[in-house]
Amino acid sequence: MPTLEEIKNKVIEVWESDHIILPSVTAAQFILESASGNSTLANATNNLFGIKASPPWSGEVYYHETNEEVDKSLLKVTDGFRKYATWQDSVQDHSKFFTSTETRKKVYAKVIGETDYTKVCNALTGTYATDSSYGEKLITIIKAKGLDAWDKETGGKIMGRKIFIDDGHGGTDNGATGNGILEDAWNLEVCSMVEYELIALGHQVMSTRSTDIYVGLSERAIMANNWGAEIFISCHVNAGGGAGYEDFIYNALLSTDTDTPRLQDCIHASVTAVTNNYGLKNRGQKTANYAVLRETYMPAILLEAGFLDNGSDAAILKNNQFKKEYAHAVVVGILNYFGLSSTVTPSTPIVNVQAAVRIPASYNATVKSGGYSIDSKPWGEVGFTQWGMTDAILGNSIYVYEESESGEYVNAYQVGWIDKRAIEKEKVVIASTLYLPNGETWIVYPENGPYEVGYVVRIDGSEGSWYTILGDRENDKVVVDLPTVGRKAILFEAEKGATITKVLG
Ligand SMILES: [Zn+2]
Repeated sequence: MPTLEEIKNKVIEVWESDHIILPSVTAAQFILESASGNSTLANATNNLFGIKASPPWSGEVYYHETNEEVDKSLLKVTDGFRKYATWQDSVQDHSKFFTSTETRKKVYAKVIGETDYTKVCNALTGTYATDSSYGEKLITIIKAKGLDAWDKETGGKIMGRKIFIDDGHGGTDNGATGNGILEDAWNLEVCSMVEYELIALGHQVMSTRSTDIYVGLSERAIMANNWGAEIFISCHVNAGGGAGYEDFIYNALLSTDTDTPRLQDCIHASVTAVTNNYGLKNRGQKTANYAVLRETYMPAILLEAGFLDNGSDAAILKNNQFKKEYAHAVVVGILNYFGLSSTVTPSTPIVNVQAAVRIPASYNATVKSGGYSIDSKPWGEVGFTQWGMTDAILGNSIYVYEESESGEYVNAYQVGWIDKRAIEKEKVVIASTLYLPNGETWIVYPENGPYEVGYVVRIDGSEGSWYTILGDRENDKVVVDLPTVGRKAILFEAEKGATITKVLG
């Protein structure tokens, strides 16, 4: 039987291809279910996860006594288990198990594709195992063995991190102005450099804005929260009579939050190495009750590069070489925080150069029917970590990004797609769920579904497309149900990317 280390590559490989169950959880289940490969069952059958010979299993069956929790007491029960030719087959079958029947897809909806191991473990309690403390046991193992590190690896390399860059101010809000500097423009320029560098290193970057538009403070936090950013970096320039660089973290952090101070330490050290060099005063590491620091769920920091109303600071801020070095220093601080060397290029080709204009707008939608699985982890796009079933998320609210400037169209950036494999398997579309960047969902009905046609949103297959519907369709229309704005029929082209470009009618 394999050791924990020996199953590592296979477990990660299966997650990479299937995106069904996290490596850390698989590994913890291996430890728990097979006594790290030492159980009688594992040795007799290569079955590392105690999976029973339930349908649709058609292979060999091995009968074995097991403990089942019934009304809080453990009973000994003899059951049939799956017997595999190799332990690798067991790892593969374990992954496929969760989506192997329609019922399992529903039962394990909160397991499938979930990237938070605690949620996965909790969702396995009472489903995968009757043991009411099953999830807690798995979590304990994952923590003790540091298995969550496996979830961040792929092919032995580090996966791209999810980094939110908040370009301060914008649009009608210029921020501070003085000495020929508009703060919002300075922030946008420097943030773009930061983003470019992070993306080149293979990290996932979402930014508040890529053009001169207004975005509210809470909206910035919501964008990062909903995306599941790991850190939040807000870039600003100071004014009001002073000199020098300073940075802020939230002034009322939980005592258990050691990551945020560490983020500040990392950023402050690398950035002040540059600012000191240019003669900008170091005003220190500070705390404040700023909205973006308070309302973000992840470690967040706000940088004030210097005082643009101070002549000598302004001269430095305008220096293009300084801007480059400053941006690079922010990147170095981020990499240090994650324990990454800037020379290591992550292996995942996750790139989002189109940090587009995005104003989040929430719509509540009700899932009325479902019936097939979807995969919203797109090829090379940012913001999707989900994968699951249409009928597993009944009652969820939906979330879309709306273009802010024109206000006349809904712009569904990075919506995700319906999984081709699922469509190929099932053929019949009842209703589909598109997972949106914040993890919420958008429900799509076929045109002949039970709805009243409201707005028609046109989707054009083109470059820069933001969601893709793949597979066989009888017609070219589906309808989204957005109660706050009515239901919308959507035209789409199969096999092509699709961008919602305009609301008609
Ligand atoms: Zn500012």
